[in-house]
Amino acid sequence: MNHKNDAKLCSDRLRMRKNLHDLGGRSAGRDVIVRRFDFHDHVAHAATHEVRFVTLLAQLADDLDRRIRFHPAMIPSSPGGVMAFRGVDFFRIDDLLSEEERLVRDTVRRFVDDKVIPQIDKHFEDATFPADLVPDMAAMGLFGANLPEKYGCANMNNTAYGLIMQELERGDSGLRSFASVQGALVMYPIHEFGSEEQRNHWIPLLAKGQKIGCFGLTEPDHGSDPGGMETRAERTSGGWVLNGTKRWITNGSIADVAIVWAKVGDDIRGFIVETNRKGFLAPEIKKKLSLRASVTSDLIMDDVEIPDENLLPGAQGLRAPLKCLDQARFGIAWGAIGAAMAVYECAVDYTRGRTQFGQPIATFQLVQERLANIFTEITKAQLLAWRLGQLKDGGKLHFTQTSMAKRNNVSIALEAARTARDLMGANGITLEYPVFRHMCNLESVYTYEGTHNIHTLILGEHITGFPAYKSGA
Ligand SMILES: Cc1cc2nc3c(=O)[nH]c(=O)nc-3n(C[C@H](O)[C@H](O)[C@H](O)COP(=O)(O)OP(=O)(O)OC[C@H]3O[C@@H](n4cnc5c(N)ncnc54)[C@H](O)[C@@H]3O)c2cc1C
Repeated sequence: MNHKNDAKLCSDRLRMRKNLHDLGGRSAGRDVIVRRFDFHDHVAHAATHEVRFVTLLAQLADDLDRRIRFHPAMIPSSPGGVMAFRGVDFFRIDDLLSEEERLVRDTVRRFVDDKVIPQIDKHFEDATFPADLVPDMAAMGLFGANLPEKYGCANMNNTAYGLIMQELERGDSGLRSFASVQGALVMYPIHEFGSEEQRNHWIPLLAKGQKIGCFGLTEPDHGSDPGGMETRAERTSGGWVLNGTKRWITNGSIADVAIVWAKVGDDIRGFIVETNRKGFLAPEIKKKLSLRASVTSDLIMDDVEIPDENLLPGAQGLRAPLKCLDQARFGIAWGAIGAAMAVYECAVDYTRGRTQFGQPIATFQLVQERLANIFTEITKAQLLAWRLGQLKDGGKLHFTQTSMAKRNNVSIALEAARTARDLMGANGITLEYPVFRHMCNLESVYTYEGTHNIHTLILGEHITGFPAYKSGA
């Protein structure tokens, strides 16, 4: 049974909602009561018995009398499609956010509810990128949102930037990946390592979404070990010639410009490469079962000539691309929370609505334990991300801290998605619900921007002083 389509439950809920509005309307605490109702709405939705409904009304009347004030954090989210997503905020993280940060978060949240969620499953199914969303995202200032206004960016602080990533990834990791690459892996390196001419030319175009960028570091034979890259740049009289192949490049086939990392002798340098240059090909990688609403490609460079001014003057050595990855990992640490919240919300709603053995499966202790675990892990991840933002804004963030947050938050999100999938039984495997899509996406997020293992080794080195990337090292 698909509980979303159960007309009787729906009409029960509408009737109850009306009654509660009437009841709440008698009090100054109306908003609180209406919200409170959403909580009971779930329970009633599952139980469907009139007697239960009457009990709820009585409880709510008591609450009203006692003027109990419920923080939204204490109230579980509502069933999909009935109310907008409110988020998970058990530890009142909202209290730690500025008004502006909350405004940014809520604006992107609405955008995701209105524009992303209604269409994303179709894009995932068809393996297409929702390109129609790019102008809206650009208009909201979501690309390179933490870069300066001088270059046409929103100049937001890093917490606001993180909240944007969180909300986008609640929609889909593919959309967040698009924004991460555009901002943290293309605009950021140009801002950090580029000349003033390069900044003035490229960053405003990328911020407006008029140009799309990609970041080419990984190669077929060099993933976790990018320092071994084989792509080479040779000096010519007027500039450089590039040869090599990059693999798994997000946005590759739709990009106007690629940041390409290549060996120059033993050194590693970064180049701005327009993708319409002769000898540059970007075939899309097909048959992906993860991040299907995102474009992933090979970049094949066969004697691609670029002028001298396309070299990023400030990028020298492996440190430069790793610094870019660190920016993107910051966003991923936040983004993963969005995916985790989406699967959590779905699992809560579903287990309340799904009846087995004559009662909602949410009433079983084994189910509750698993929901409690997800809820707790999301809360811990939120605290980690919030502190990460503070440290970054204060200029005190060390890359090992970002590694810890990326490693933890993606891992708990993936575990949450797998658990939610299981809690939904057979319905968990369909695209009718967002859970399996998020689960598949998170498998990539677990791997890219430094695999889970690599972040473990980064922390291991930080703790012990011994780098363990190579056996015997
Ligand atoms: C959808 C998607 C989008 C991507 N987008 C981009 C992009 O835009 N730009 C880009 O440059 N790259 C991108 N990547 C590539 C990504 O960064 C790499 O996949 C990642 O770095 C891992 O490399 P690999 O896949 O070659 O795995 P490998 O490095 O071969 O690793 C395979 C396994 O071995 C483990 N392993 C490797 N070395 C060690 C070690 N020393 N100790 C312990 N375990 C180890 C890994 O943790 C992993 O479990 C993307 C990948 C995906 C899936």
